[in-house]
Amino acid sequence: MTLNRRDFLKVSGAGVAITLTGCSSQPSSGKSASMAKPHVVVVGAGFGGATCAKYIRQWGPNVDVTLIEPNDKFVSCPLSNWVLAGMKNLDFITHGYDNLPKHGIKMVKDYVTGIDVEKRVVTTKGGAKISYDRLVLAPGVEMLTDSVKGFKEAEAAGKVVHAWKAGPQTALLRKQLEAMPDGGTYVLSVPAAPYRCPPGPYERACMVANYFKQAKPKSKIILLDGNPDIVSKKPLFTDAWNTLYPGMVDYRPNNAPLAVDGNRMIVTTEFDDVKGDVLNVVPKQRAGEVCAQAGVRNDSAGNWCTVNLATFESTTVPNVHIIGDSILAPLPKSGHMATNHAKVCAAAIVELLAGRQPDPIPVIANTCYSATSGTTSGYVAHVYRFEAGKGYVAQPEGGATPKGSELVFAYNESWAKNIWANALD
Ligand SMILES: Cc1cc2nc3c(=O)[nH]c(=O)nc-3n(C[C@H](O)[C@H](O)[C@H](O)COP(=O)(O)OP(=O)(O)OC[C@H]3O[C@@H](n4cnc5c(N)ncnc54)[C@H](O)[C@@H]3O)c2cc1C
Repeated sequence: MTLNRRDFLKVSGAGVAITLTGCSSQPSSGKSASMAKPHVVVVGAGFGGATCAKYIRQWGPNVDVTLIEPNDKFVSCPLSNWVLAGMKNLDFITHGYDNLPKHGIKMVKDYVTGIDVEKRVVTTKGGAKISYDRLVLAPGVEMLTDSVKGFKEAEAAGKVVHAWKAGPQTALLRKQLEAMPDGGTYVLSVPAAPYRCPPGPYERACMVANYFKQAKPKSKIILLDGNPDIVSKKPLFTDAWNTLYPGMVDYRPNNAPLAVDGNRMIVTTEFDDVKGDVLNVVPKQRAGEVCAQAGVRNDSAGNWCTVNLATFESTTVPNVHIIGDSILAPLPKSGHMATNHAKVCAAAIVELLAGRQPDPIPVIANTCYSATSGTTSGYVAHVYRFEAGKGYVAQPEGGATPKGSELVFAYNESWAKNIWANALD
């Protein structure tokens, strides 16, 4: 009797126990004494990757999953602006990966340095070669530090940070803000969209303003925006700046950062040289480097990955799926979205490995909270239904709050705790 891997998954998924020999497709160890299960390798244990790995194991218990991540711990960007405000500390947003192996996920602490999509083998910095049947890339964004002249030097000298990946730069920026004199100027400079977390810069301005209002009320914030207008939750943020922090936030649209001088503490835009005491420059971004290694960073500019949005499989490289911030889609680059991609992708992979058709009309949602003060937040929420030929179409459900409230602030913190648990527990 011969059964291929798909047939095996179908019957064993139905609860029938069989023992087979001679399956051929697992890592080329030369050992083929027992039936090999299909193997999915997931790269990156952030919101997208951790969630995808967990749900593949939950929905496809016959699928082996290896999750590769270089960091010991997950540090959440959501609520990292609260750390800058001194409302939470870094420990609060830092979580271990200890629970993932309980789902049967094999965790590999390493960094992927190469992908052979023909042989379906991933190579790591540590020298491992890991075969896959299907590969999920969830590396988040790569910072294009060369896009702002002088940024690399200023960053290496510890003078200017982006803090757009939560971790040591979040801690350093908080220290810089604490050390700034009352009456000083904090300059936050962000690129034109698309970038990770559309409302993030405006929430950051609110959070730093909240801190200044309490600790150094004569201080100013200059927000240099590479976009022509506030790109997300405009009524919420303008209300907060006008009512909670009048005169403190100087918002300047169409002011993309071109250069930064960490010695003279100046950010240069097309119009101005803007001097500050603390400079926080967020460069342009693109899909994580590993996507280029797999040949899936394939939009016209070579920055983002185009995928079939019903399965998140690359439009050009078979058996490679990309989720989270790395994809090109008219959807916000958020943690909430990344976990929704992850679940649609996990379900599709389980179906494809079992020889079945994935759900042709998946539905996803995005909810994004932003704090406007130490006690108030607002949100934007949308539901999207996949339609063939159109992609994800926004449904009438959803909306946005024009003003922050204490109730939404409570939801905001609960949302974070829930999404961390959903991805990591
Ligand atoms: C200030 C700020 C506030 C935010 N607030 C919110 C919010 O309130 N709500 C919300 O929904 N979203 C928010 N976001 C956005 C959210 O953080 C991102 O959209 C989300 O992290 C994207 O998930 P991801 O899985 O694509 O990438 P990530 O979560 O960044 O995970 C990528 C992982 O891949 C790993 N990796 C990268 N390359 C490799 C490699 N070669 N080998 C192995 N591993 C690799 C990295 O180490 C990392 O752990 C915020 C972002 C910022 C910056």
